[in-house]
Amino acid sequence: MGTNKNTPNPVTAYRREEFPKQKQAFPGLQKDMQPVPDCGEKSYKGTGRLKGRKALVTGGDSGIGRAAAIAYAREGADVAINYLPVEEADAQEVKRYIEEAGQKAALLPGDLGDEAFCGAMVEQARSALGGLDIMALVAGRQVAAKSIEDITTAQLDEVFRVNVYSLFWIIKAALPHLAPGSTIITTSSIVAYDPSKHLLDYSASKGAIKAFTQALAKQVAPQGIRVNCVAPGPVWTALQVSGGQFQEALPEFGHDTPLGRAGQPVELCGLYVHLASEESSYTTAEVYAVTGGRHI
Ligand code: NAD
Ligand code: MG
Repeated sequence: MGTNKNTPNPVTAYRREEFPKQKQAFPGLQKDMQPVPDCGEKSYKGTGRLKGRKALVTGGDSGIGRAAAIAYAREGADVAINYLPVEEADAQEVKRYIEEAGQKAALLPGDLGDEAFCGAMVEQARSALGGLDIMALVAGRQVAAKSIEDITTAQLDEVFRVNVYSLFWIIKAALPHLAPGSTIITTSSIVAYDPSKHLLDYSASKGAIKAFTQALAKQVAPQGIRVNCVAPGPVWTALQVSGGQFQEALPEFGHDTPLGRAGQPVELCGLYVHLASEESSYTTAEVYAVTGGRHI
């Protein structure tokens, strides 16, 4: 087998050794993870694909949302990020990356499970950035549970408020202000198609996100607004070490994919850029898998 430095091997391009077991309280800080996820801080290079655009990224402090936020800024967009107040340390790092890219950054901490906050967040993003035309809705809540008996109504309520209800609340607030050409990207999961027996509530919520996205896309297509969905497979992020997986599943996390390893957040950000930019102008109501080869 030859090697070519211009074609890095996707099997070995990112970590494939086992991950160390580790546990943080929800929602976790990625700066304290072992190893720290790769969100493109060192590698992502922009080429002006989102020049002049204004983006709101939920879950923008860490993981997949952070990778999207950094890429958006390096592509020329101003970026507002939402996260939980306890994630301020991760969020401050992202603010620095956005500003180092020469773009405006707005930090909007708050709980997406709160309808009033969702509306206020959209207003704050619009006023801080002077408009809004990319909505990347990435935040999500995942709690592993061995049995349906262990899923309390409080947990069910939280998972659905954050993963599903917040999409309705945020889009209702934003839609009257979105001009034609604006783009919305939601974040589902492989588990919407191949549900996990340890993620009953989460899998159901991710199925709902897929259906919501495709229905919304049809509704707003005549207004020139496109809506698409990203369905990640196993990606190394804080969500996995703060209750989203059981400890025993962490070392081999992602090893059951055809590529034989977990993904890193940086491997998704190019798709979030593509779906936000006008280069995807004929694509709406679609779901894109980034799963290391598992089928949706
Ligand atoms: P992450 O923990 O880095 O990001 C999730 C973010 O959700 C957190 O940073 C937090 O800011 C936000 N969040 C959670 N509850 C919130 C609340 N009540 N209010 C406001 N924000 C809240 O993990 P990630 O893996 O990058 O997650 C991003 C998205 O990707 C999620 O929707 C997740 O379901 C989805 N996803 C992840 C994987 C994976 O393997 N990591 C797989 C499929 C789908
Ligand atoms: Mg986080």
